Amino acid sequence: MDKIEDLEKFSRLLEPNSEQRKYLFENVIAYSEKFLERNKNSKCYIKNDLNDENIFLIDEQPVDIKNILEILNNHVDNDGINLTSGKYLGYIPGGGLYHAALGDYLAAVTNKFAGISFVSPGAVKIENSLIKWMSREIGYPENSAGNLTSGGSISSLSAVVAARDDRIIENNKIKQAVVYLTDHTHHCIEKALHIAGLSSCIKRRIPVDEKYRMSTNELRKTVRNDLENSLIPWLVVGTAGTTNTGSVDPLTEIHQIASEFEIWFHVDGAYGGLYSLTSEGKEILKGLEYSDSVVLDPHKTLFLPYGTGTVILRNRAKLYKAFNADADYIENTFDNETEISPSDLSPELSKHFRGLRLWLSLKINGISAFRAALSEKIYLARYFFNKLNSVNGFEMGPFPDLSISTYRYIPKNGDADSFNMKLMKEIQNEGKIFISSTRLAGKVVLRAAIQSFRTHRDEIDEAIEVLEYYAKRLETN
Ligand SMILES: *Cc1c(COP(=O)(O)O)cnc(C)c1O
Repeated sequence: MDKIEDLEKFSRLLEPNSEQRKYLFENVIAYSEKFLERNKNSKCYIKNDLNDENIFLIDEQPVDIKNILEILNNHVDNDGINLTSGKYLGYIPGGGLYHAALGDYLAAVTNKFAGISFVSPGAVKIENSLIKWMSREIGYPENSAGNLTSGGSISSLSAVVAARDDRIIENNKIKQAVVYLTDHTHHCIEKALHIAGLSSCIKRRIPVDEKYRMSTNELRKTVRNDLENSLIPWLVVGTAGTTNTGSVDPLTEIHQIASEFEIWFHVDGAYGGLYSLTSEGKEILKGLEYSDSVVLDPHKTLFLPYGTGTVILRNRAKLYKAFNADADYIENTFDNETEISPSDLSPELSKHFRGLRLWLSLKINGISAFRAALSEKIYLARYFFNKLNSVNGFEMGPFPDLSISTYRYIPKNGDADSFNMKLMKEIQNEGKIFISSTRLAGKVVLRAAIQSFRTHRDEIDEAIEVLEYYAKRLETN
């Protein structure tokens, strides 16, 4: 009994009282306020080598929250790329809506179990209603089903596994099964194939047109050829907004070919799919609604913090078949269920109640604010394209399908590839804006990915000024 009493004294430290909670909370809020208030003027990139391994060591003794926040301030929140800046235009910008942070706070305090309907019916209903809402927005049928995942990569894995099981791609069939991609398909598809045990299936890289969209003539030819050679055309991946250039594959035509030859049609809309919320996007994304499965990333296109992805299958039974499981120790939880449980549609059992961060953000702001922000990004990309196009020396890539624009500077002398790499590095290191590069048809090309809810016209004007200034400076030096 003495032992228990002793232990209890210590273990009770894990439950702060009201006053202690207030102290913790006020310090954390003050810290996040400071972070947000200076964010507009923070550099987009700070190089800060972490050479002291001991900074993050944990020990047996408690530490005051003020000291802990100091560590975050000095070694975590002010180095590397500032992904919360509106002037961050690299890769695919993420979000970080404040409302989502409040949702996470509540989800953690109440610790609702979003995996099984019997355990937390309300939490599961929130998740399922968000899936229903997204399904409606992209034009999927009522009986589709999906899952809120940690991101696009896990969503893609879920879709690939469901497609594999539906077409029974196993044993000897794996080596004959053909997947159709382009050079612009995100590498998470190959990762998913590998994890799903399908590394040895055949991958066909279908050529793209001048706007980097899959050539459907080539797709049809390749499928016919594969059939003549007794192979099994199994999966075609269309990208609704490639990471490279933001271009959208011709989804309607891909669907026609896929249905003619009974190929599973998957759409990777991790970056671009949720542009369906806008009338401009809907037009460009036509055909998305015919796919068998789709991936959408609210942590990109709905500005949520990282850790919010979505997979949706047109036919709910196919997702259920791939992931439902039963066990003696959770048997009774499946009784009397009216709502489909996320754990039956996903590799996860216990999971973060990530629906709340999305639901709260949508409820507080209303969907219309998101539609406006996304339309704004499309028009900003067009504005960026037209404005940089009129600056001497810049050569633009194709007119943007969504919110990514590609370009490069052509110097009067010397190699354009190394010039543009240097230009990018200088801009990154100075930190006023952040841009990244890619290679298209072997050439170095710079990108502006306009995807943050904090990016508006001022930020784009500044980006143009920075690009012009540094290009001229580099050229005259
Ligand atoms: C970002 C992205 C992915 C990967 O998604 P994560 O959420 O980073 O795992 C997949 N496909 C496309 C087109 C993307 O832009």
